[in-house]
Amino acid sequence: LARLRGRLARSGSPLGARLLQVLSRDHLTEDDWDELEETLLLADVGAGPSAELIEALRTRVRVEGVKDPAHVRTMLREQLLALVDPALDRELSTARTADGAPAVVLVVGVNGTGKTTTVGKLARVLVAEGRTVVLGAADTFRAAAADQLQTWGSRVGVHTVRSDRDGADPAAVAFDAVRQGRSEGVDVVLVDTAGRLQNKAGLMDELGKITRVITREAPLSEVLLVLDATTGQNGLNQARVFGEVAGVTGIVLTKLDGTAKGGIVVAVQRELGVPVKLVGLGEGPDDLAPFDPEAFVDGLLE
Ligand code: GDP
Repeated sequence: LARLRGRLARSGSPLGARLLQVLSRDHLTEDDWDELEETLLLADVGAGPSAELIEALRTRVRVEGVKDPAHVRTMLREQLLALVDPALDRELSTARTADGAPAVVLVVGVNGTGKTTTVGKLARVLVAEGRTVVLGAADTFRAAAADQLQTWGSRVGVHTVRSDRDGADPAAVAFDAVRQGRSEGVDVVLVDTAGRLQNKAGLMDELGKITRVITREAPLSEVLLVLDATTGQNGLNQARVFGEVAGVTGIVLTKLDGTAKGGIVVAVQRELGVPVKLVGLGEGPDDLAPFDPEAFVDGLLE
């Protein structure tokens, strides 16, 4: 986490730079408050949460008679932290069931957001913890997707269950992966899926079928929605659709190492009512970290 903190801080945030500018003024005018709110909006915090946060902050500043902008910054930090909601349970559930079935983690999201990479990184984390893992390549739409997953699997030293045919039934592959995981007594089965959003009904059918078929063998421990933090509002729309079709239990926010503005964390948690559990901080195998609200807010305010 120290590493995460360092890296988020180093990336510097556009929010932080502008906030610093506004909060270094002698006192805050009406325009300054507007600018603060606009800065939150530009950082993807979302219109509702931004307005509420500024309103609450202004009230506190007035009631407590705060004059010093540095103090305002401390209060802003507290307010942002409350929005990110440090009390949410962000633990991944990856425990085997009482009857010995593996924990099944279904990874969903639009193509290109970082699903396969996340599955690979997560497998590595689990293996490092001494857990046994099987991967399921249920993105059968493109053979390249299964190849990519298998490459991650061999790098990490875990088996990948896949189909040799393009366009094989993704639910059948997911089922095979879980059944194999169960018969071999592995701890966790990670299932990678396709995310073609052109057709919501099709996506719903596909994910619905995968879910039904998996749960014949083992209950789903987690449905992780992978969102690319650099896509801002678009990510929020994706969250909405997947939230409706997939029973999401946690969010993985990828590409926070890039130009991401990060405030999307607040917006997606609100939208789906589920916490951001993991963050992607690069393309490498070690670039996955648990989401740490404090480090995150400090990163925003750097
Ligand atoms: P999928 O189509 O959702 O499975 O996405 P991929 O896992 O293939 O990832 C798409 C691209 O995003 C690849 O080039 C990945 O290396 C890259 N990527 C994934 N996660 C991250 C991340 O956290 N940071 C950065 N910078 N790139 C990432």
